[in-house]
Amino acid sequence: MKEIITGRIFIISAPSGTGKSSLLRALIKKKGRNMKLSISYTTRKIRSHEKDKKNYFFINMKKFQNMINNNDFLEYASVFGNYYGTSKKFVIKNIRLGYDILLEIDWQGAQRVLKKIPSSRSIFILPPCKETLQKRLLSRNQDDKSTISLRMQNVAQDIKNGLKYHYIVINDNFELALEEIHHIICSEHLRSREQILKNYNLIHEFFLQDDVRDKPY
Ligand code: 5GP
Repeated sequence: MKEIITGRIFIISAPSGTGKSSLLRALIKKKGRNMKLSISYTTRKIRSHEKDKKNYFFINMKKFQNMINNNDFLEYASVFGNYYGTSKKFVIKNIRLGYDILLEIDWQGAQRVLKKIPSSRSIFILPPCKETLQKRLLSRNQDDKSTISLRMQNVAQDIKNGLKYHYIVINDNFELALEEIHHIICSEHLRSREQILKNYNLIHEFFLQDDVRDKPY
């Protein structure tokens, strides 16, 4: 019998400074019994508040190249001059176990994942306005001025690509944005195709009863 995979992939992208990491961590904490956040591999330098294996697996270019050669990535991309990649093993293992996997990746990665696994769903998070985004980037104090200006220059391109995502959520009110992402995930699991596969026995039962009733005694 064909394997029924119940876990789904949800891709979440946003311009830097939109609050996507905080949203996803809160989502896992509050609603995430059946969700896991995929931790990416990166060649980027670790920031002072970050922890290896928690925020990212921080590796050097040689190791990253070996992982590319071993076909270890579901997708990888160069973003702001550093490489980032998603572990294929982690994602496949956990969707088979029935977990939803949240991928916090950029639009290039999103396109690649959607091509390989079309049942994945993409959610783009928009900041409430340009000024708020600029303020958030400056206040989090984690990048130098030239990186912040590079990130701001990329916002329009990010948003242009984000308009092609399945869903768009605006992070004006944190709690509301959190609920909206959760609703998207829940409603994707209620789509008929998935419900028919998951509840095959229940649905089949009704047809069986009809068969019995139709039979002459
Ligand atoms: P940051 O350096 O601010 O943590 O992340 C920079 C960008 O890289 C963000 O847009 C983030 O979503 C993206 N990113 C993080 N991990 C991955 C990944 O595994 N693959 C891809 N394609 N992008 C990633």
